[in-house]
Amino acid sequence: MVKIVARKSAITRSPEFEKKTLATHALNVGVLCGHGCLYCSTPAILRTQSKLFPEYDGSAFKAFAAGAAVVDPTTPDRLGRELAALKPTDTVMLSTLTDAWSPEAQEHDLGRRCLEKLLRESKARVRILTKNAAVVNELDLLAEFRERLVLGLSITAPLSKAKVADVLEPRASPILARLEALKAAHEAKVPIFGMLCPCLPGVADRQADLDEMFAMIQPFNPEAIWSEPVNPRGPGLRLCQEALAEAGFIAIANEVSFIRSQREHTAYVARLISNLHAAAASAGVKHLLKILVYADGNQSKGDDSAVIWLKS
Ligand code: SF4
Repeated sequence: MVKIVARKSAITRSPEFEKKTLATHALNVGVLCGHGCLYCSTPAILRTQSKLFPEYDGSAFKAFAAGAAVVDPTTPDRLGRELAALKPTDTVMLSTLTDAWSPEAQEHDLGRRCLEKLLRESKARVRILTKNAAVVNELDLLAEFRERLVLGLSITAPLSKAKVADVLEPRASPILARLEALKAAHEAKVPIFGMLCPCLPGVADRQADLDEMFAMIQPFNPEAIWSEPVNPRGPGLRLCQEALAEAGFIAIANEVSFIRSQREHTAYVARLISNLHAAAASAGVKHLLKILVYADGNQSKGDDSAVIWLKS
């Protein structure tokens, strides 16, 4: 089910994404994305917005589990005066909580319409993050404004485990299609950033997995590479575990289940930080790496030079 809403706000300031060094502002084209990634933390962010989901007992989790999406086709029309107020030093991220090229957003051409307004009617820089290869339909616009934008397609698994990503991200583009989109953009001289996120246990946390993932994005000369552990909030890890087990990926399902306890999640994050530093060093891209961790870093041991501690 795709629900249509009309919100009041469009571009918002985002201290969180500023701390992540990704953007100063956020622009979302709805509130719940239809890609259906089982680990998605957006439903947890929406858990108090019960009015949005009367059909699902007021629960964003139930709505998400039922495959619902909530999109706002009026988003581009509401981009007005705030565009002129943006400065050249601002960066607007499209998007932070949803995906402007998700299937329901594509129905209304929201990615292109928002992007075009942002680029033609503001002076801000734009950072595009998507899991949908349909963003290449905008290649003409991306190339025209290549000086003011940077494109990322999340890489959540090495190609050798792409079938696992198909289970976890049922309506997003396959990993190979995302790589092909990055290749097409790179060939059109569109600047690229890396987004290895989330790095799920058993999928993208071993050094061998990460070696492969860095090798996948290095040909596109990324300006920086962000990475993040999976967020344990909400039912995401349970949903991943159940779907992986049903698809026959039993060992990976068990690894996901293992980190559902706080203590094991903390240990997984520490191992991931170490493996990311090692893989980035071996690929010669350690200077580009930024690891986003929702903790204060007080208990950190070992090399954490690439970590941005989001609770410090
Ligand atoms: S693409 Fe992003 S916003 Fe959409 S379901 Fe996946 S994780 Fe959530």
